[in-house]
Amino acid sequence: MVVKPIFGNWKSIDIIDRIDNPIIITMKEPWAIIKPKINSIPSQVIFNKSMDIEHLEELFFSLKKNINNSKTIIGLGGGTSCDTAKYLTWKSRVQEDLNLNLLLIPSIISVDAFLCSSIAVREENKVNYIGESEPNNIIIDYELIKKAPKYLNRAGVSDTISITSALGDWKIAHEENDEKLNSRVFDKAKSIAENLMKAREDIQYINDNGIKALVDGFYNEVKLCEDWGNARPEEGSEHFLAYCIESITKEHYIHGQIIGLNILISLFLQKQNAEFSLERIHRFFNDIELDISPKSMYLSYEILKKAIQEVKNYIKKENLMYSVYNSSKLDLDKNIRNLMRFIKSI
Ligand SMILES: [Zn+2]
Repeated sequence: MVVKPIFGNWKSIDIIDRIDNPIIITMKEPWAIIKPKINSIPSQVIFNKSMDIEHLEELFFSLKKNINNSKTIIGLGGGTSCDTAKYLTWKSRVQEDLNLNLLLIPSIISVDAFLCSSIAVREENKVNYIGESEPNNIIIDYELIKKAPKYLNRAGVSDTISITSALGDWKIAHEENDEKLNSRVFDKAKSIAENLMKAREDIQYINDNGIKALVDGFYNEVKLCEDWGNARPEEGSEHFLAYCIESITKEHYIHGQIIGLNILISLFLQKQNAEFSLERIHRFFNDIELDISPKSMYLSYEILKKAIQEVKNYIKKENLMYSVYNSSKLDLDKNIRNLMRFIKSI
């Protein structure tokens, strides 16, 4: 079950000071902010940048001695810090039968990973989910998050606003592929996206209300998918195209930017099945000042076009869910020129 975050100004400081000898997994920037403010002395501070499985195993091995003295592992930072902390807690449990407390303090809210219990690691350059580790607490420290670049925090909208294109895919899968569609879950997802759009001004400023709206959006979306049993209400063609692009270029893009761009592409192609209007979502990205143009992420039109033409096969090969790209009603050859013209106008 997804854990409900605790919010507050400099909340992370109070909480860390109440923990004896924590092991802190972090990055340079958030640690430079937090270190001078806390009284607690961590048993160890680890800066980790790699989610490569071999590297993580070595890290666990080097920590093994110390882990007995610490009852708590804190992930303080971005996705990598939180996922490393999740990994080490999981590994301690499965290998050493040790139940450590896990505390996550995201310093940036650009993706929803800190709310998901699954642990994403890299094996031979491919992302794999190896296990689950549920945090005891998640702290959303407004002041800490505000220190991260605004455009990265704003990019956090995309993992919730991807509902707007995922719902069109769900309708298409229901009509063409006989997939189960629950109207209560469908409407709930829709209202989560609507609520996020109402907070656009606060999200643009990344003030307390904007941070709260982004995290509530993540929480509600993750909880809804958990209750439903899969990510259908939130993830569809916009994510699949991103995975396909990344498989071609081997680059990593800012998740919220590439998903944002792909949401517009999906809405364009979904036509009458689109649950939200393309113009409305495009305006939302403009209003919050999230640049989702291919140029902003150094993605060429040629690669993008290639990925759009290949994504259907990619989806089949990777066994991903049915979406607009599978639809027999989608005539890509006929649409691609108009689509590329639209993309160039973003
Ligand atoms: Zn995502």
